[in-house]
Amino acid sequence: MRQHPNIQIFESHLAVDLLIQNGVCKGAEVLHTEKKEIELFLAKATILASGGAGQVYERNCNPAVATGDGIAMAARAGAEIRDMEFIQFHPTALALEGKPTFLLSETIRGEGAILVNAQGERFMESQHELKELAPRDIVARAIYEEMKHGPVYLDITHRESAYIKARFPYIYEQLWWYGIKMDKERIPVAPAAHYTCGGVHTNLNGETNIPGLFAFGEVAHTGVHGANRLASNSLLECMVFSEQTVPTAVKYVQNVENDKNVEIDSRDTVYKKTDVEEIKKEIQHIMWEHVGIVRHELDVDETLQTLKGIQSTLDALQKDGKNEMLVETKNLADVAILITTAAIARKESIGCHFIAN
Ligand SMILES: Cc1cc2nc3c(=O)[nH]c(=O)nc-3n(C[C@H](O)[C@H](O)[C@H](O)COP(=O)(O)OP(=O)(O)OC[C@H]3O[C@@H](n4cnc5c(N)ncnc54)[C@H](O)[C@@H]3O)c2cc1C
Repeated sequence: MRQHPNIQIFESHLAVDLLIQNGVCKGAEVLHTEKKEIELFLAKATILASGGAGQVYERNCNPAVATGDGIAMAARAGAEIRDMEFIQFHPTALALEGKPTFLLSETIRGEGAILVNAQGERFMESQHELKELAPRDIVARAIYEEMKHGPVYLDITHRESAYIKARFPYIYEQLWWYGIKMDKERIPVAPAAHYTCGGVHTNLNGETNIPGLFAFGEVAHTGVHGANRLASNSLLECMVFSEQTVPTAVKYVQNVENDKNVEIDSRDTVYKKTDVEEIKKEIQHIMWEHVGIVRHELDVDETLQTLKGIQSTLDALQKDGKNEMLVETKNLADVAILITTAAIARKESIGCHFIAN
């Protein structure tokens, strides 16, 4: 990309909001995080490729930037958002105090690793005929329930040490750094938010309901993942739908005039310092506890009211200026509300959305 003459990369730039005029997307408002200034990026076509929203949850294995910015921006601009209740939780992420939520791939279970509880009992045998290789949502829920009584471990110590090191060199090394020798010890694990199946709804050419706005990748909802993504399908989705979207956007810009007359409220361009780390943690905690792996009908209703209160606080804080943490935390609140509202609307348990009676 860096060598391509037509591609310019803007480091340290955070898209804050889409510019919509007369129902058409004209680009984005962007925060230069080093200069601490908000700039306008005018564009005939805008493509969202900003990834998912795993950071909405306390336990997640997503990068820090996965704060659902694209979904939140598009929702504020009036784009159609679908299937946000379908958040996929990966069953096995490292659960070691003070260490990252490092993902422990399904292939470890594929190579014979078993899940055991604090008493060393293998609990998946009673849950599903495929045992540890049952679908992700089933394994994640079983671990979640088991953890009410104590920690859960992934155990592959019955396989030969040399085999484990050769088969999982990266995982072995990472765990070694975190103080665990996976060929000799059980690995403490717990589920973590992993993938956002829903998002900005597009057709098969990446077009949203807003002219000039396109989306692909995890930010988009193309429908291909249904209610529960199959492992490895998301990179495939990124490749297929970027190939579909770019020619569509190119065709679109050929019929659009340049527009230099986009207006923006001057209050939107002020940078201010505000630390909202605690509010961010509160959103993540609420979502993990109440709109996570297992959902309860009454609980999600109450949660929505709490989240709306938090959203109002963040809205008020943004009235006289913005900064990157404030922008991302507000996006988390917006996305949390989208997930919770969708979870309330979906009355049956299906795929990643599970309601307990
Ligand atoms: C640990 C882990 C393992 C995975 N393993 C697999 C696998 O084996 N197979 C598979 O198919 N999928 C896997 N996935 C899922 C897959 O990696 C993601 O779905 C995919 O990378 C998403 O790509 P993307 O281009 O849509 O978004 P990303 O790769 O997340 O890229 C989004 C980019 O947008 C930028 N961005 C975000 N917000 C803004 C903003 N406001 N302004 C400017 N820039 C912004 C981010 O900085 C980032 O560079 C895995 C995911 C995780 C977390």
